[in-house]
Amino acid sequence: MNKTLKFLGSDAGFGRENNSAYIEIENKLILIDCGFTVFEKVIDNFNLNSYDDIEIIITHLHNDHAGSLSQIILYAYSICNKKVRVISGCEHIDEYLSFCGTPKDAYELVTETDNITMIKTEHTPYLDAYGFQMLINGKNIIYTGDTNTFNPFLPYINEADELYIDVSKSGGVHIKIEDIYEKLKQIKSNGTDIYLMHIDDKKYVADYINGEFELA
Ligand SMILES: [Zn+2]
Ligand SMILES: [Zn+2]
Repeated sequence: MNKTLKFLGSDAGFGRENNSAYIEIENKLILIDCGFTVFEKVIDNFNLNSYDDIEIIITHLHNDHAGSLSQIILYAYSICNKKVRVISGCEHIDEYLSFCGTPKDAYELVTETDNITMIKTEHTPYLDAYGFQMLINGKNIIYTGDTNTFNPFLPYINEADELYIDVSKSGGVHIKIEDIYEKLKQIKSNGTDIYLMHIDDKKYVADYINGEFELA
């Protein structure tokens, strides 16, 4: 399998490498979430000057998903003279960026684009969280973000070429691997490639799935 998204990290919230993915297409960089460990990876891995467009999708405002957002926007704006497009449904993202001292001029905030549709899900009672559908490179991708349920993604899954899904050993505010395993086998048999991400215990999950799915 040749997955469309590349990952800067796929750890759960208390891991060392925050879950974050990206795709480069033509002169555009699309970054998916940027937690507190991601700023360093961004400046090490990408020359932001080389892109015409920089888009950052933010699924929710937990620190392991948005902790580097203001820093990357400020860096792109003041060092590279680029305005980042932030794609997010999060209710408080403007306030969040304002509290961090991010100038309004430094970014554009949109809730969707031609090829990206946010899908509201449930993660914790303390904030609103979203996954999304992305149509890119001829692929239909579903990305759950952090979620405790798969239900909001069901209407989209039959058409999906790739599914990136949050799974865990411990469950709670995330989907427990045991609870979704049979459903994922069914989705896979329907022709969708499946990649597991944001994993709290990679050994446990790898042992449990026994090679059935790929870890992002
Ligand atoms: Zn997280
Ligand atoms: Zn979260």
